[in-house]
Amino acid sequence: MQLLRLGPVGQEIPAVTHDGTTYDLRPLTADTSGDIDGAFLAADGIARTRAALAAGELPVLDGADTMRRGAPVARPTAVVCVGQNYAAHARESGAEPPRLPIIFFKHPNTVVGPDDTVPIPPGAERVDWEVELAIVVGARASYLPSVEAALEHVAGYTVVDDVSERTWQLDDSLGQWSKGKCAPAFLPTGPALVPADEVDPGDLRLRTTVNGEPRQDSSTADMIFGVAEIVHHLSQYMTLEPGDLVCTGTPEGVALSGRFPYLSDGDVVELEIDGLGRQRHAFADAPVPAAAAARG
Ligand code: MN
Repeated sequence: MQLLRLGPVGQEIPAVTHDGTTYDLRPLTADTSGDIDGAFLAADGIARTRAALAAGELPVLDGADTMRRGAPVARPTAVVCVGQNYAAHARESGAEPPRLPIIFFKHPNTVVGPDDTVPIPPGAERVDWEVELAIVVGARASYLPSVEAALEHVAGYTVVDDVSERTWQLDDSLGQWSKGKCAPAFLPTGPALVPADEVDPGDLRLRTTVNGEPRQDSSTADMIFGVAEIVHHLSQYMTLEPGDLVCTGTPEGVALSGRFPYLSDGDVVELEIDGLGRQRHAFADAPVPAAAAARG
């Protein structure tokens, strides 16, 4: 079972794919905010979706195969990211593996669909890809008593590209990475939210290609801090809300390593995680708006 949001930007229709057929989820989301979001997940939306499928209560969504794929979760209140969570990536970035999870934030308005074109921001010269397993929070998590309790707060998983501008992240940041992580459309998300009980997040292969050439190819088995550990740890410092995204870090094979060129106009990045689906998005030079031209 995969939860999806299909249709033009801002007009996505909540949907669910099961056994090769896509169904319209609006009869269920009408009870909350009309979308797949934190309110829907907090109201036990995944279990209700499963029950409605079993009862044959959902109409088939005609034309689903040709519709744009949006991010599978609408309006996260926060996007929390773990940095350097794979030892080989930490080394290629010039750092030692961290003692505790390193976190930074992406602005939630960076979330776009998995196939949407990503603008290369004005003045950007080191735009990089990062395939990551993203956790979708299903229930509020605050001061969780144990690592074991953490997975009950996870609705499911999706794929993200934690797009990064390395000069802004590392040279212009003076110690905090978010400046290089928050440009428009810097978080292609999806295609699907796959329920937590259908995924083993501890052993998923993740891959990236650029223009068809291999870049990243690793497994979540190489993560330093696993999903439950991350959610438990974060909950000691902040309240995670239903619908929030937690990006769990990227493996080696990014341009920052020096082994590959950074992204430029016309490049096509494809990212895939086993069982969670595949993204394919182009990068394109963005026109220079007046506000960006004025940036010091
Ligand atoms: Mn990242």
